[in-house]
Amino acid sequence: MNADLHCHSTVSDGLLAPAEVVRRAHGNGVELLALTDHDEIGGLPEARAEAAHLGMQFVDGAEISVSWGDDQTVHIVALGIDTSHAPLVEGLAKVRGGRDSRAMSMAAELDKVGIHGAYEGALKYAGNPALISRSHFARYIVELGHAKDVKSVFDWWLAKGKPGYVSHPWATIEDALAWISGAGGIAVVAHPGRYRLTKAELREMLGRFKELGGRGIEVISGAHNPEMVRDFARVAREYGFLASRGSDFHGPGESYSDLGKVPDLPEDLTPVWSELI
Ligand code: AMP
Ligand code: MN
Ligand code: MN
Ligand code: MN
Repeated sequence: MNADLHCHSTVSDGLLAPAEVVRRAHGNGVELLALTDHDEIGGLPEARAEAAHLGMQFVDGAEISVSWGDDQTVHIVALGIDTSHAPLVEGLAKVRGGRDSRAMSMAAELDKVGIHGAYEGALKYAGNPALISRSHFARYIVELGHAKDVKSVFDWWLAKGKPGYVSHPWATIEDALAWISGAGGIAVVAHPGRYRLTKAELREMLGRFKELGGRGIEVISGAHNPEMVRDFARVAREYGFLASRGSDFHGPGESYSDLGKVPDLPEDLTPVWSELI
């Protein structure tokens, strides 16, 4: 099964509209797709309709930004959610509501290091103040010619510890897991290999996640190297987690992996889609 259960559209920081993401996935041979925009479910009706039109299986999803520990951010992918569940809808709206003021603070910090007009510049890419993410800032900074690509903008200006980084309170892990469970969905830890957590901190987070009803982990992610795949396959076995597979595609030329073009799950793991379709 070519399942891709993690990707983005213009309804967060992706470059393609929801229907375009679905068409590209279908063209790449994806058989089961979840669209997982950051803290957003607004692209799902369009994506679902296009998937139905193409005869491709589709799961409603979202990627929820969660604050963890001492100013860390962890992403939790929600799969198979009822998008009319009020606490989920309202919770996500509240998380998005903080993005605009954070963007203004980021622009003020960037202004001090000579990158001017960044709020307006990022907003031009995001289209909607509630969706402004660091990716939109990165595109503007590339446009200004200060960096060759989005990745280097993060390395120089936007990653934690860099001048444009502003700490921000996202959802709590308790709230995020309650919204997902309440909406009948499955919670999955996104790209565990990307967090700057020590092994002990990661285990603490995974333990809490499981305690709160979290059931899955991305073993295959566009952001994972083969060593990470081995590590997180081991974690899935140890914790009894369902295994997920997602490209985390944002757009042509801007992502580690294209839709559906990631390795298969190790065969002994239970795929999260065994509970979704
Ligand atoms: P935000 O939710 O506004 O903090 O933005 C986070 C988004 O920035 C992620 O979802 C990625 O799309 C992107 N991102 C984070 N770190 C990097 C990086 N090192 N290189 C490229 N994109 C990144
Ligand atoms: Mn993103
Ligand atoms: Mn993420
Ligand atoms: Mn993502």
